[in-house]
Parts: sequence; C-alpha cells; structure tokens
Amino acid sequence: MNAMSRHPEPTIFERIVAREIPADVVFESDRVIAIRDINPQAPVHLLVIPKTAIYRNITELGAGDPALLAEVVAVAGQLAEEHTGGEYRLVFNQGERAGQTVFHVHAHVLGSAPGTEGLAEGTLGNL
Ligand code: AMP
Repeated sequence: MNAMSRHPEPTIFERIVAREIPADVVFESDRVIAIRDINPQAPVHLLVIPKTAIYRNITELGAGDPALLAEVVAVAGQLAEEHTGGEYRLVFNQGERAGQTVFHVHAHVLGSAPGTEGLAEGTLGNL
C-alpha cells in the first residue's frame, strides 16, 4: 500500500511539513520536524513528527523504520533537555479510542520549565 492510498487527504502534519500551513517550529532535520502543540496540555507541549506521512502510528513506525523511531525519541530527549531540563513525559496516542486525532505518527513531549511546578501524577488517562 502506498502513501496515496493511505492518505487520500493529507493530514494536518503533512501540510505543516510542506509549509502549506504555519506552525511554531522548534526543531527541524532531514527526517523530523518538531512544533509547539496548538492546544497545549502542559506548560511545555511539543510534537515530534517524522516528515514522512507513510506511518500512521508508533507501531507502524517501529516496524517499518526503527532508526527513524530512534531519531524521534532522540529529538524528543534533546528538546526536553532544552525546554524542561530533561524531566518529561513522552506519549504516543494510537487509535481513536486512545485519543489519536491525527493519523500521522507523532510523539507528544510534555513537561514544564525547570524551577516551575511539575506535571501532576495520575493524569495520563481518565481513571
Ligand atoms: P493526537 O490527538 O495524539 O493525534 O495529537 C494531535 C495533536 O495535534 C493534538 O494535541 C492537537 O492539539 C495538535 N494539533 C492539531 N493541529 C495542530 C496544528 N495546526 N499545530 C499544532 N498542533 C496541532
């Protein structure tokens, strides 16, 4: 299956990668872009996004290109070092019932600036 058959409509992240719509870009390399989330759930909320649109979720990315998944994790760690002092939460939502809304794999980097209040415990799910 090719990218066209998977994504008849480009996702919002594909359009951000193509610079068709604006975003607050905090990092970019050949294969990865990172932006600030437009609807932050924490004082620091970044999204680390592989530029390719062929992987819808982390399972597909891990199976299809483990080196790219490792790069996403490394970029997340590097950005977290800069923005949170290195203490952070890394979240991949997979599937609608887990809260995924954009079907172009991306990592959420959640945290707060050093010296400020940290993330609450027990807020990862709804129980
Ligand atoms: P998920 O729900 O895991 O698929 O995450 C999608 C995330 O993308 C949500 O946290 C949204 O707030 C965020 N988002 C959607 N559109 C944009 C946009 N144009 N710029 C930045 N973040 C966005």
